[in-house]
Amino acid sequence: MENSLSTTAAELRVLSDEYYEKFLSVIAKSRKPNPIRGLYPLEKKPGVISLLAGKPNASSFPFTSFSFTVTSPTSSSLSTSPETKLTIDGAELAEALQYSDTAGLKQLLEWTTGLQTFSHQRELGEGWRISVGSGSQDLLYKAVASIFNPGDPILVEAPAYSGAIAIFEALKCLQIEIQTDDQGILPSSLRSILDNWPEGKAKPKGLYTIPYGGNPSGTTIPVERRLQVLQLALEHDFLILEDDPYYYLYYSTSPRPQSYFSLEREITTVGRVLRFDSFSKILSAGIRIGFATGPTPLLNAIDGYTATSNLQTSSFTQAVVVKLLTHWGYEGFHAHTEKVSAFYKEKRDVFETAMKKHLGGLAEWTTPVSGLFFWFKLILPGEDDSEAIIKTKAYENGVLALPGTVFLPSGSKTTYARAAFSLLSEEDIDEALRRLRGVLITEQQT
Ligand code: PMP
Repeated sequence: MENSLSTTAAELRVLSDEYYEKFLSVIAKSRKPNPIRGLYPLEKKPGVISLLAGKPNASSFPFTSFSFTVTSPTSSSLSTSPETKLTIDGAELAEALQYSDTAGLKQLLEWTTGLQTFSHQRELGEGWRISVGSGSQDLLYKAVASIFNPGDPILVEAPAYSGAIAIFEALKCLQIEIQTDDQGILPSSLRSILDNWPEGKAKPKGLYTIPYGGNPSGTTIPVERRLQVLQLALEHDFLILEDDPYYYLYYSTSPRPQSYFSLEREITTVGRVLRFDSFSKILSAGIRIGFATGPTPLLNAIDGYTATSNLQTSSFTQAVVVKLLTHWGYEGFHAHTEKVSAFYKEKRDVFETAMKKHLGGLAEWTTPVSGLFFWFKLILPGEDDSEAIIKTKAYENGVLALPGTVFLPSGSKTTYARAAFSLLSEEDIDEALRRLRGVLITEQQT
């Protein structure tokens, strides 16, 4: 049934809870529904008088209205002055200042659900839903804790986001590195690990990957490889944790490869992609809003975690975000992301020009078509590790970058290093790489 495209919605519902049970951690399975939050939806039934929750009375709050000014997504550049004042007041403000549902504010859940249909062509009713979190990091942590028990193996593309590695380490997952090249995951590496998996040893329940503008690698995996990875996920029965904060920062003129979440629909109707989106890079990092999308039972497990930890993501920041998003609409949102992409593409180009000028012959790299990073290999004969050079010598010379080792689950040595190009002016970029050149030339001579 799993490979069949003809699975009906009714069959999917039957599959749901029992089917995903095998992916849940002991802790996730042992969580009981929160006795109060679990009943929130009942309060909304017309005619019900609720004596349920100890919610503070909004009329006692000191806030009477909240206004903010936003740019227009259709203005020609990001730097044009703010154009529209939006106000949250009345019942909307009362809701924004109150406790709300664990998964997220209804309006934001609806808007982001529509966004997934708009961006990834996934229709509701296919057994998925969304939960909002305080950034995608929050949801990643909760998801990993809901799936993996201490000691459970997890497949991790290497190099990988150091913030994800920190989660796997904190939760004592056994990280299995999957090799990559300048196009992302090597399906052959994944296949070889899975085909040679020791008999009798529990197989990995999931793969962690960043499909666009990898952090740190800058790579964007092509569709053919994505399909191979999905096929392996079916064959070996694992989930794909698609961590995708850079999806909307895409610089190439060739068509954007479909996300795993979108592509899985071509292979199976039983979802195994758990997708993490973030508004950090496109609206604001400090507003701390991200959202996870995937099979309902997995989202229920994430909500179970939330209900026992921070109860919910701030209703207030969710209200601000959804006010802006509904004002813009999906077309406006996309127009904004295109402007943000154009902004970073220019930064990338300036950075690469300076790389060619200063690091030619001293480093090698592939131009990233998405994301905010250059991942470069130092060409230093006899050197097998960039750590001392990047962490100590470059810093002593006034440049701060990251040695590649922090992005390897095994922590092994590497001659790679990561540079973020998002913040600097052209002058600072030139100066930083001129300083790095000085360090590398001195290294070559010693
Ligand atoms: N995943 C990746 C790959 C990231 O690069 C980041 C942020 N640097 C995050 C997750 C966390 O993002 P957020 O701000 O949404 O928590």
